[in-house]
Amino acid sequence: MPHPKKKLTNAARNQRRSHHALKAINMAKCESCGKPIKPHHACLNCGMYKKREVIDVTKKLPKKERSKILKKKAKDESKDLKKIQKEVETLKKTESKKEDRKEGMKSVVRGDK
Ligand SMILES: [Zn+2]
Repeated sequence: MPHPKKKLTNAARNQRRSHHALKAINMAKCESCGKPIKPHHACLNCGMYKKREVIDVTKKLPKKERSKILKKKAKDESKDLKKIQKEVETLKKTESKKEDRKEGMKSVVRGDK
């Protein structure tokens, strides 16, 4: 076994160890729940990464709590679906209005009524 030739003084040892201190890590904020998370890591509280669920956080919970959370999620999703459907309908309406205007302009240009 290799051994050091001479005893290292306390000062020399401490000088070497002066660079070993740990630095505080940077924390980012979770976009969906707001908890502090490591940057470029999935949130361990809600399991989201880049607005997409990548970890099923409910897996480790007892059955009762899990079913509660899943039911709530399903409700929220149905609400979101209804919102999206409404938005699509309003968009369709505005587009049809625009087309009507275009048609009107064409008829004016053509000179018919
Ligand atoms: Zn989160």
